[in-house]
Amino acid sequence: MKAARRLLAEAREIVVISHERPDGDAVGSLLALSRSLELAGKKVTPVLVDGVPARFQFLAGAEKVVHAVPQGDFVLVAVDCSDLPRMGTPKERTTRPPDLNIDHHATNPRFGRINLIRSDAAATAEILFELAEPLGLPMDAGVATALLLGIVTDTIGFRTANTTPKVLRVAAQLIEHGANLAEVYERGLNRQSLNAARYWGLGLSRLEHDDGLVWAALSLEDRRRADYPGRDDADLINFLATIEGARIAIVLVEQSERKTKVSWRSKPGVDVSRLAAQYGGGGHEQAAGAMVDGDLTSITSKVVKEANSLLGEFTGTGT
Ligand code: 5GP
Ligand code: MN
Repeated sequence: MKAARRLLAEAREIVVISHERPDGDAVGSLLALSRSLELAGKKVTPVLVDGVPARFQFLAGAEKVVHAVPQGDFVLVAVDCSDLPRMGTPKERTTRPPDLNIDHHATNPRFGRINLIRSDAAATAEILFELAEPLGLPMDAGVATALLLGIVTDTIGFRTANTTPKVLRVAAQLIEHGANLAEVYERGLNRQSLNAARYWGLGLSRLEHDDGLVWAALSLEDRRRADYPGRDDADLINFLATIEGARIAIVLVEQSERKTKVSWRSKPGVDVSRLAAQYGGGGHEQAAGAMVDGDLTSITSKVVKEANSLLGEFTGTGT
């Protein structure tokens, strides 16, 4: 903490970066920290290699985000990045490890020079709120809104098992600092584009299930037909996770003929980060992901088989 405080206090220029295909916690944490450092008088460049998804663009400072780490002399801070490759390609992120690595993923290999990792936090935004005072970071309504968005999205609206009383207290304090919970819900969590709904429809039309397992595969053809702009699943995974009886939910998104993005969600007691780790991915026990080498069809059958045998370990009925 002391080293982190000194690092930020002495820095003039700071580059803040988060992970590719950014979710709400990535964008919220990035914009909150960037704005707060600016309020503290620093020159700040926020970086997201895939840019800010449309539904998070209402956050203050979203227009300042650039797609690659610039040249020059600066302090590099990573937020919500579970590992170094997730910051982008070496060209986009530079090969230099971050000076400061702030994250809540249990699988984080501590790839920064200084690492502030708290895996009991529901969101990186929660950690940033707690660090604000000790790190000397100012708070205003813009910072508070971005942090609340990070917490609301990572807990899917305070629904995940890691939503502790502390998470709710932090959220309450963020509202007192001027964040508007109804707006954050409405714009950041409960709104989908028409194209995203069509993309869901294509995936849901081929929804499969087997005992405690549900899964759906989204192809590049689905993306094209729905005219969906992202490389992600438009959060379809969080819907599959709500299906009654689903102890593991999986969504697979074709990235190319040889690459497939896999997302896993599970009920407490079933640790899917183990499945993701086999592919060099990571995340949390109940929510994990990985970028997997292989085509959509073969990866789907492989991943489904592994999930079935993981469930079998718990019920004693699997293979
Ligand atoms: P999602 O399935 O929504 O992409 O991600 C679920 C969780 O797993 C998030 O906490 C996310 O940061 C993590 N995750 C997703 N993809 C990867 C990956 O490729 N590598 C690692 N280390 N973590 C990932
Ligand atoms: Mn997060």
